[in-house]
Amino acid sequence: MKKSLEEEWGELRETFNSGKTNEQSWRRSQLKGLLNLLKEKEEDIFEALEKDLGKHKVEAYRDEVGPLIKSVNYILENLKQWMSSKQAKLPLAAFPSKAELVPEPLGVVLVLSSWNFPFGLSLEPVIGAIAAGNAVVLKPSELSPASSAVLADLIPKYLDNKAIKVIEGGSSVGEQLLELKWDKILFTGSAKVGRIVMSAAVKHLTPVVLELGGKCPTIVDSFSSSRDKEIALNRILSAKFGACAGQACIGVDYIITEKKYAATLVELLKNTLLSMFGENPKETRNISRIINEKNFFRLKSLLDEQSVKDSIVQGGSFDEANLFVEPTILLDPPLDATIMTEEIFGPLLPIITVEKIEDSIQFIKSRPKPLAIYAFTKNEAFKKRLQSETTSGSIVFNDTIIQYAVDTLPFGGVGESGMGRYHGKFSFDTFSHEKVVARRSFLTDFWFRYPPWTEQKLQLFRLVYVFNYLGIVLNLLGLKRS
Ligand code: NAD
Repeated sequence: MKKSLEEEWGELRETFNSGKTNEQSWRRSQLKGLLNLLKEKEEDIFEALEKDLGKHKVEAYRDEVGPLIKSVNYILENLKQWMSSKQAKLPLAAFPSKAELVPEPLGVVLVLSSWNFPFGLSLEPVIGAIAAGNAVVLKPSELSPASSAVLADLIPKYLDNKAIKVIEGGSSVGEQLLELKWDKILFTGSAKVGRIVMSAAVKHLTPVVLELGGKCPTIVDSFSSSRDKEIALNRILSAKFGACAGQACIGVDYIITEKKYAATLVELLKNTLLSMFGENPKETRNISRIINEKNFFRLKSLLDEQSVKDSIVQGGSFDEANLFVEPTILLDPPLDATIMTEEIFGPLLPIITVEKIEDSIQFIKSRPKPLAIYAFTKNEAFKKRLQSETTSGSIVFNDTIIQYAVDTLPFGGVGESGMGRYHGKFSFDTFSHEKVVARRSFLTDFWFRYPPWTEQKLQLFRLVYVFNYLGIVLNLLGLKRS
């Protein structure tokens, strides 16, 4: 008989309370199990991604399977060191004493994930939760059903099902899960549902990580070197059209460039599009499909307005039967049109022009804080200004998306683009609590820290807090007095 959510949750709590998940050997065995799953079931993963998103297997390996294998290996290499306690520095006044920071798992955690990278965005947080010694429930998105089914089928075969569970379902299952008490929730998805998650977490005082989206601007300066130009265009267009057809939170949402360079840039983008996806992109299978009809029609409706339609300089066709949207470039659509006020999340690329490249700073600052800002430029003074005058989850000069795949960099947003961070050691920290363990000796004592209070004791406190070294003397005086 199928267990209820409460029963599944109860089983996880029991497992966590047994201390099993805290053992380094258990964590390693689970991570190795995941590694085996990724290696042995690669074809199943490719097949599911093809079914859900028409994702090419090279793209699937580049963006999901490969980064996950890399992440697990990186964690296995470093886990022992991360799990060890760290000695803390103490003030002289505390002499003689010792303190350390001891990482401990939070407990039973919930991961709610999105459909655009259904393996990457589900398993990357799970890897961190396991590494930190937690029991975990993963609820994949119902919008990528083939991927969700593969996760639900394979995870119990490769991992400890008493501690790691996949629960499939849509928003109502999500809501039921949010009723339960979790020790942390890591949510990847829209700001709208992020708000629901956060308000449900309040009830149990559960900390949350919200990995949200938004519009990532990409500034393009003019290029003098043809090699730089070619690399830049490849990096921009692969992040827009070659990463889940623009259905990527850290993909390029729109470009900002100088008015005088716009016509040249459009021609360059068209040529690069041709070399990447050919005359008939639909036939090449090098570009993913839109996840479902709802999103297909949402994208189509972004071009409904005549003034937006008029700004199309490339593409603009839609094939409903194949949920295919042609890579589309727009030049200066109205700024108050939905395409410029909401996250696009698809293969439509507006170019917004400004008089001077420096004007892009004000443009970005006047909008919600993005998950990422990209800028292709060699102008060092501009880079400096952009970095210091804007806020975003990350800023990358002369490339796109690479920050997601680097284990030593935290991934996360700020403001409307999210809160909290993960990946590599940051995942371990996100799913751990660093407990302070302090050890004191009876050798010395601040005799004046106890009542009855006197003026003299007040003076002594003033000295101790202002002159740290005096603490040791007074501590020793304590020794003398006792
Ligand atoms: P979504 O918010 O609709 O769904 C995300 C998850 O929440 C799914 O598992 C879904 O089933 C669940 N859910 C939906 N309604 C719920 C409810 N009422 N209660 C509990 N759970 C509920 O988002 P989506 O359509 O899957 O993803 C698109 C958004 O996610 C975009 O804004 C995108 O930018 C963002 N995103 C962010 C990242 C990131 O890492 N920052 C990655 C991918 C997508």
